[in-house]
Amino acid sequence: MTSNKAKEINKKDKLVGKRFGKLKVLSVYKKGKYKKCKCICDCGNTTDVYYSNLVSGRTVSCGCRGAEIANSYKNIVGEIYHDLIVEEKTEKREDGLIVWKM
Ligand SMILES: [Zn+2]
Repeated sequence: MTSNKAKEINKKDKLVGKRFGKLKVLSVYKKGKYKKCKCICDCGNTTDVYYSNLVSGRTVSCGCRGAEIANSYKNIVGEIYHDLIVEEKTEKREDGLIVWKM
């Protein structure tokens, strides 16, 4: 193994430019013995996450919508839940989830 002190930031990493959930990888660097990625989130925040958490899918946002999952994110207008019809999306959020008007 050769050590390469000058290459702290690896812009050529295959993850650069890739998208994981709400995060897009800007650069990859090494912190101690761990690889980390600087990412930009859809909300506009930049965040640093562990490389392994990104590729495994454990980290998919900067934390702004940590609880948000694909299911809660799709448009469900017109769908019926327990005899309730979803009328529209509201601006309200509870625990990071969209509140739907029934
Ligand atoms: Zn975010």
